[in-house]
Amino acid sequence: MIKETTREIIEERLADLPVVQYAWLEADELTFSERVRKICRDECPRYGTSWACPPGVGTVKECREACGRYEGAFVFTTIAEVSDIENMEETLGTRRGHEEVTGQIRGLFRECGLETLALSGDSCARCEKCAYPDGPCRYPKDMIPCIEGYGIVVPSLAEKAGIEFENGRNIVTWFGLILFTDLP
Ligand code: SF4
Repeated sequence: MIKETTREIIEERLADLPVVQYAWLEADELTFSERVRKICRDECPRYGTSWACPPGVGTVKECREACGRYEGAFVFTTIAEVSDIENMEETLGTRRGHEEVTGQIRGLFRECGLETLALSGDSCARCEKCAYPDGPCRYPKDMIPCIEGYGIVVPSLAEKAGIEFENGRNIVTWFGLILFTDLP
């Protein structure tokens, strides 16, 4: 598991980032569900449009196995205020800031010599247009798949982590997840 000193370094550096809450879990505490995948398939316009979303990320079983290769899970949230949370365009427009923070936190873990898998609240926004399905991902080391796209149950994750799932009216709460393992 992560060394106490590494954890302290990461927590110290987190103070410079707009993270609202965070928690450290074991990777095997994540809950996966085919039902989450069904919601992606039936309701998300990003389904089938990105290497960072299903079916490009693989089956839920494959995603669970991929997460199972890591020891720890660092969960965090950022928030953004909008004028109307029902306005999907405005709400989704706030995800860029969260993606940047997710990339910065992954960078912290990497700088500390940890192997990582970063997941975020929406599918990868690295390229203007994803290469899926005509060619391979252009930046496999930078891409950040969607947490739900992996079949992870976010309310359960929030509960285990003791993190608020909602933070008030017209406040968008974005979740991020960094799976990590100490390199030998
Ligand atoms: S890095 Fe680009 S090609 Fe790869 S998943 Fe993200 S948007 Fe798609």
